[in-house]
Amino acid sequence: MVEDVVSPDLVEDYCRLFMNRRAYTVQSARPHRESGRHYYYRPKDAKGRQALALSRKTIAQHLEGKITIGLYAINPRTQRCKWVAIDADYENSLEHLVKLQWELTKDGIEAAIEKSRRGGHLWILAEAPLLAKDCRVYIYNLASKLKLPVKGTALPEGIEIFPRHNSLKPGEFGNAIRGPLGIHQANKKRYFFYGADYTLQAQMDYLKSLGNLNEERLKALIAGMTVPEELSEVHRRVPSFVPCRGSGNEFRILEHIQVRRKSGRNFWARCPSCALYGHDRNGDNLAVSVDDPRKYRCWAGCTREMIREALGHPVKRAVGGR
Ligand SMILES: [Zn+2]
Repeated sequence: MVEDVVSPDLVEDYCRLFMNRRAYTVQSARPHRESGRHYYYRPKDAKGRQALALSRKTIAQHLEGKITIGLYAINPRTQRCKWVAIDADYENSLEHLVKLQWELTKDGIEAAIEKSRRGGHLWILAEAPLLAKDCRVYIYNLASKLKLPVKGTALPEGIEIFPRHNSLKPGEFGNAIRGPLGIHQANKKRYFFYGADYTLQAQMDYLKSLGNLNEERLKALIAGMTVPEELSEVHRRVPSFVPCRGSGNEFRILEHIQVRRKSGRNFWARCPSCALYGHDRNGDNLAVSVDDPRKYRCWAGCTREMIREALGHPVKRAVGGR
């Protein structure tokens, strides 16, 4: 679905609501040769050196359906986000999002549900950027109260909360989610919000009319709360039998994934890059060498860069030189 031209006002509104930093990702228009999947990657300039910065032109192209961008939640300079998105793409996931949406209205927050290929994304917009940490405390507590499954815990499927980190270090990106109102490159289909007519203008008017979350309200809602115990270890489970190697600053993948089983000479786990896009349903695309956990591989074809980026720990490039 391709729109001819999108008005500058629409682009401006979109920036105001959703653009919190200049780093972004783009969904590949062509399926991966082996896995058939449309991965997201960080676009580079023509020489392949500098990462491109998100511009109004890029957003217009996204809204026109020419490309599909992914947005990062957290701005690392402020550790704040303009929105919280909850991604759910398993069976009955839409029901969970509607429950969550209803629970939010009780706190005076109007959240919008956007369709996705297999489920939906629930978007909560902020009046002004909110601390990622506070947002996570709030949503994790809501999820716990409603007994919703949360991905990354012992459960194979569940909701995923963006921002996925409490804070980012300089140079980190966190995790990106498909920008609202984008098409999916696999089927060129646009996913709209349920709450309005299916035109871009009606959708934007709807988003602008929502009762947003502000900091004062959020602080009041989370007073005395922390991330619930059973969810605090999400994404940080380390099997006890992992040998420790190397210096303190080294990236250790086993600190970031949940090993599902050990088989042969490998640990098997859900590939973080596949998982970002609702793939790897069996949770065993990633093999990590038991002997040397620095060696890992996604059988679906994700590169080391994609896996590291999905974990919010992109591969650092060598500094210096020209
Ligand atoms: Zn993968």
